[in-house]
Amino acid sequence: MRILIANDDGYLAPGIAALARACEGLGAIDIVAPEQNASGTSNALSLTRPLSVFEARVASGHAVKVVNGTPSDCVHVALTGVLPTRPDIVVSGINNGANMGDDTHYSGTVAAAMEGFLFGIPALAFSQVDKGWRELDAAAATVRAILEQVLAEGLPRAPFLLNVNIPNRADAPDRARRVTRLGRRHPSAPVVRQTNPRGDVIYWIGPAGEARDAQEGTDFHAIAQGEVSITPLQVDLTDHAARPAWAARLERAAAG
Ligand code: MN
Repeated sequence: MRILIANDDGYLAPGIAALARACEGLGAIDIVAPEQNASGTSNALSLTRPLSVFEARVASGHAVKVVNGTPSDCVHVALTGVLPTRPDIVVSGINNGANMGDDTHYSGTVAAAMEGFLFGIPALAFSQVDKGWRELDAAAATVRAILEQVLAEGLPRAPFLLNVNIPNRADAPDRARRVTRLGRRHPSAPVVRQTNPRGDVIYWIGPAGEARDAQEGTDFHAIAQGEVSITPLQVDLTDHAARPAWAARLERAAAG
């Protein structure tokens, strides 16, 4: 069993060290992580500049290959030449903050796992709901329990992609686990306009919106109950239900 660990908060983040500790003993560990915090970079790949890799250690002492790129860059180069051996599973995190509902489209944590999934490898993304690393050990114990259960039942032939959100609670490992669907958020708060010291107007992307669809069954709902949310994700963005209507409106045979 080989486990590839990545994240989006960067190799110095406490969350990736906690994830490495959580994986200890489950298999051989490879860690490939971004040099800098790359939260919110989604599935971006660096195509217009080269990437460099240097060896370092995460806070737990595990060796890490550090890439000056995005989370997807890390997993991509790991799987296409930086690692000598293909991993059996890719795990990402533990992220500093929730990745629920619409967040998943922007998340580098989910993207790192998704890159593994796109290469046909089972993958899990782990996030702590509240920023600040409170109760990180409990989150790591939760990760460990989930991974042990997933691995004990054997990895299926078809890859999967699980998005796991963990409440910042000391009793997180004992909380109920719910398999959920993604909720939806309200639109983000307005952009924040400021003036920099040189008098230029600058803008900060505003904070994410509050939960809008947080009905029972969603990730938001499970987390509101203090439970662990596990959402199976797929990558196919096709709106299958809308295809017939669009076909009726826009399809035509070639002219002539
Ligand atoms: Mn992050």
